[in-house]
Formats: sequence, structure tokens, C-alpha cells
Amino acid sequence: MLKGRIIFMSKVVKFGGSSLADAKQFKKVADIIKADEERCYVIPSAPGKRFGDDTKVTDMLYHCYDEVVGGADFAKSFAPVRERFNGIISELGIDLSLEDEFVKIGRNFASSAGRDYAASRGEYLNGIILAKYLGYTFVDAAKGIFFDNKGNFDGDITNACLGAILDRTPRAVIPGFYGAMPDGSIKTFSRGGSDFTGSVVAKAVKASLYENWTDVSGFLVADPRIVANPEVISVITYSELRELSYMGAGVLHEDAIFPVRSANIPINIKNTNSPKDAGTLIVPTGTEPPSKYLITGIAGKKDFSVISIEKDRMNSHKGFMRRLLQVLENHGIFPEHMPTGIDTVSVVVNSHELDHQREKLEERLVEVVKPDHFEIIDGLALIAIVGRGMRSAKGTATRVFAALSHADINIRMIDQGSSELNIIVGINEGDFEKAIGVLYDMFMLSEQ
Ligand code: ADP
Ligand code: ASP
Ligand code: MG
Repeated sequence: MLKGRIIFMSKVVKFGGSSLADAKQFKKVADIIKADEERCYVIPSAPGKRFGDDTKVTDMLYHCYDEVVGGADFAKSFAPVRERFNGIISELGIDLSLEDEFVKIGRNFASSAGRDYAASRGEYLNGIILAKYLGYTFVDAAKGIFFDNKGNFDGDITNACLGAILDRTPRAVIPGFYGAMPDGSIKTFSRGGSDFTGSVVAKAVKASLYENWTDVSGFLVADPRIVANPEVISVITYSELRELSYMGAGVLHEDAIFPVRSANIPINIKNTNSPKDAGTLIVPTGTEPPSKYLITGIAGKKDFSVISIEKDRMNSHKGFMRRLLQVLENHGIFPEHMPTGIDTVSVVVNSHELDHQREKLEERLVEVVKPDHFEIIDGLALIAIVGRGMRSAKGTATRVFAALSHADINIRMIDQGSSELNIIVGINEGDFEKAIGVLYDMFMLSEQ
């Protein structure tokens, strides 16, 4: 028998909110973890929705904190959260009380510990329960995951500290979603950030695999809320995944790719409710098998605006693009795409970046860029068609045009990345769901 240090490579396993929504789900999670002794490091989310219109604990906590800051009584406002956690503990039949933790949270709410602190308690408390249930060590993420003074995640310090802690902790539960600022206060990642924590932990322990357990059997070719029963993507590269998750494929947080990518650790997306399904394997670019289909996935986002500028002989005006980009930068606007013509340039931006500064921006653009014509058009949706199979194939754009024009959808913009890994089209928001549906049919159904 080997004693002491575990010598095999460890796997990091992250479970999303729906996977830990109640005691029944906790039991499935424990079965999964116990089925493979390499599953040493576990990242829980806060309990998510148990049924359609249920509320996630994270949202309950934001709400509770706002109420308490507004003068409400903590005990009363926190009662539904307390019930949620106590319900899980009693149904699991474990010998654990979180009452002292609840009192501490009440005290910290009273001293205005902040919304991030409040939200993070969902993962924190769920982590304590899961650690107890599994017999694993609980490691508070605030002890090993750090942000710098500007609030940016500090990868180097985190990797060193977390690596050192976990090196002496053979089996641990590390709550997702948060870390600590240099002054010790709690800061969260953006929503869905437990995926990022999982990736950070996988890098810190040099895991052989990062398993991300959720409520679907992998990364699907399209959003299942738009396309009925889309196919599962069996293997996808980091680069393809990055394109799809950036463009709104919600299954994995858009930043989760970075820590594991730098360490060449594959990710396996798996379904807690159907653990035997192979799921999706996300692998370093260059190690993937050829893809069966021309495209790997389709994803999209709404809420974009186009700043459309016309100026005769644009190219002969020295510094024209630089001046245009400088004005945008001065207003904190980051172009998503910039399709150009000979005398025209369109800048696609997130509509919310124009909030409260539209008039000022317009004035400044007229002053500095001196366009012949210029307008801002709202209500644009972007859809990305992504696939390594498109690289050498001819006629992909033609098929995109054909699918959309058959469905009477007007293409307002088209952009193909130089890597030929994606084609992005801009359409009216009202056509968004229909466009994803017809593109799925064009590329997936016609190839079967
Ligand atoms: P978790 O709580 O486990 O982190 P999320 O809700 O963040 O889970 O992500 C899983 C959900 O992402 C799925 O239930 C599905 O509705 C949605 N989703 C959107 N696009 C896709 C896609 N391309 N593939 C799979 N799921 C997707
Ligand atoms: N609980 C957090 C959220 O709801 C983080 C996560 O689930 O990943 O956004
Ligand atoms: Mg998620």
C-alpha cells in the first residue's frame, strides 16, 4: 500500500449550480467524485435553480445584501438562504451546523463588507457542506486566490500560493467564484466565474484534466434554448472554444480557457445528470482530430451598435483611422469589429458602451474625424460560425448567405477572421433566433 502523498496525477472537478442545487444533486456529485480516485480537487458553485422559476442562491444573496444595506433586518432577509443550506444539510444527514457562519455573515453585512462578499458566501457555505460530506479538506479561496490593487486577477501570486497550499492538501474543496484583494476583502469574478476558479486550480495543481460538470452533456453545436436537441461537440480546440464562449455560448465562462491553456491541460465538459455520456473534450490546438463537420459550433450575442462613417477618399487622409480609434478609446469604447470599404468604415461596439455619452461621442467624432456622413445604428446581433474544418473548405460563406437569404434575413455585416476559423455576421436582433436555427440546419442537417 502506498502511504502519504498521492503519486498519481490529479483531476480538478468543478460542479455548477444546478449540479449542487439540493441534497439529491449532492449525492450524484459525491458518487461521481468517489468513482475516480484521481478526482482530488473539487470546486463547487453556489446552489443553483432546482426548478424553472427557482432563484439561484447567488441572486438571493445579492438581494439580501441590498435589503440589509437599505435598512432591513438581517435575520429576516437572510432566512430563505439559511433555509436553503440547512435543508441540504439535514437531507444529507451530516453532522454540521453553519449557525456560527451565519452569525459572522450577519456581522459582516452590518459592517458593509460589500456585494461581492455577500455573493461569495453562496460558494463558501456550499463548499463547507460539500467538504464535510466528502470528507475532503475545506480550503477557503480567499487564502489562495488573489487580486491586485486594481482588482485584476493576479495569476502569478495565485499560482504560487494556491499551488503551495494544495501541494500539502491531497484532497480539497475550494469554493468557486471569489478570491481576496490585497487588503483581505473579498472580490468575485464576473457571473459564472466558478468555471474560472476551476481552471486556476487545475493550473496550480498541474492537473491531468479539468472536468467541468454541468446540466448538459457537453458543449453543444448551438444553444439548446434556441435549437432543439443540438448535437454535442465531441472534441473542440481551445481556439474554437474561445471564439464560441466569447460570442455567448454560455456553458463555460469566457475567461476559463486561459489558465488551463497556458498549462496545456484539457477540459472535459460533463453532465452530472448523465455521467456516462462522454461530453466534450477541449484540447490544445494542434492535438485535435479532424472534425467530422465543416463547422464546430454557432453562437451569438445581441445588443450591438454600428457606428457607420463615410468619407470620400478616406485612405488619403493621413491618420484617419488613428484619429477615429483615439476618439473611441478616449470614450472607453472598444471596437468588436471594424469592417471597412474604400470610403466607409463601420465600427461595431457593445451598445451599453454608448450609454450616457452618445451625444458627446457624436460631437467629438464630427469634430475630429470630419466624416461626410455618419450615423449610429442600434439593434444589431452578431452570430459567429466557428470551425477548424472551415479552414481549407471552399464555399462556407456562400452557404451562410444562402441559409440567411432563404429565410429572408438581411445580412448587415460580415467579417471573416484571418485564421479562417470563424465567419461573423451582423443581423437585426429580431432575426437572431431564426438565423441561428437556419444556420444550424444548413451546416448540421445537410451534412448527415
Ligand atoms: P453551470 O451552472 O453548471 O455552470 P451554466 O448554466 O453556466 O451551468 O451553463 C450550462 C447551460 O449553458 C446549459 O444548461 C445551456 O442552457 C447553456 N448553453 C448555452 N449555449 C450552450 C452550448 N452551446 N452548449 C451547451 N450549453 C449551452
Ligand atoms: N454562483 C455564481 C453565479 O451564479 C458563480 C458560478 O455559478 O459560477 O454567477
Ligand atoms: Mg456556469
